[in-house]
Amino acid sequence: MRFTLTVLGSSSAQPTPTRHHSAHLLNVHEQYYLIDCGEGTQSRLLKAGINPMKINAVFISHLHGDHLYGLFPMISTLGLMGRKTPLQIYAPRPFGEILAQHRHYFETDLPFEIQYHEVDTRENALIYENKVMEVWSIPLRHRVPTAGYLFREKHPAPNVRKEKIEQYGLSIAQIVAAKHGEDILLEQDTFLPTDSSSDNNATAADPGCVRKQQLISNAELTYRPYEPRSYAYLSDTLYSAKAATLVRGLDLLYHEATFADEEKALARQTGHSTASQAAKAALVAEASRLLIGHFSGRYKEVSSLVEEARAIFPNTEAVEEGKTYPIPPKLNPA
Ligand SMILES: [Zn+2]
Ligand SMILES: [Zn+2]
Repeated sequence: MRFTLTVLGSSSAQPTPTRHHSAHLLNVHEQYYLIDCGEGTQSRLLKAGINPMKINAVFISHLHGDHLYGLFPMISTLGLMGRKTPLQIYAPRPFGEILAQHRHYFETDLPFEIQYHEVDTRENALIYENKVMEVWSIPLRHRVPTAGYLFREKHPAPNVRKEKIEQYGLSIAQIVAAKHGEDILLEQDTFLPTDSSSDNNATAADPGCVRKQQLISNAELTYRPYEPRSYAYLSDTLYSAKAATLVRGLDLLYHEATFADEEKALARQTGHSTASQAAKAALVAEASRLLIGHFSGRYKEVSSLVEEARAIFPNTEAVEEGKTYPIPPKLNPA
């Protein structure tokens, strides 16, 4: 039931000695998802002890090099490693053309299939789902078409309360039905007291016996073992109240904070956010926790950006590269 984020890169356009281009790895129930793939991502994965063969799908926010240039070498390495499983790639257009050109000129002959899915950056749409999770595209405001991504765990299957199994003497079939959300109809033969001829062998068909029915609601029998968790990646973007609203109620928000507030004009001009604006987005999104990143190389250390954000949204941290951020399950009482 793991739900963890590992941050591989957190610089903006220019890398620094300590910060690399954007890439995040999300582990949801041991399925791996890569979000953006800046230059050097495969080395960063190896350093973090993550086998790139485990990646199921890649989500690219936009076609700027600091979010994309690591993807082609990683694809090539996956081929050398003998990957057979198809790789899903979600990215805005014209990524498909870039990929085709790259494969043509570099004669990339791969032993696995790349399944490309074009993301419409204007749409808030469900673009991916499996049994345990769904991914939504979030329209962002940048210099080129850009999508953020919301990863949301689905409700887990309900558990049946042990004491209710005992109380009602539920059969295996009834337990399975309750797990599937059904109400359970209990039937019991009750013998009516008769005046003279008490008959110990009475059956349901006998006039002295009535069948009593009791419908037990599914809500009484079951509980959800934990609440679904969620994480959103909003980068690169100007402040967008709409985007923040679309991810409302999430556990962990990653929002770019390329600049300090004093560079607000530059942020606007380049299609980026300040630390204060990232914090404002977290506030509107009612996030539990905010991670900021995509820092401009001009900031040798980013504590002033964190302070600026904390004045608006106290539970803010600057992302640390190589660090894994778990979102523990919020367990419900049985
Ligand atoms: Zn960027
Ligand atoms: Zn960009």
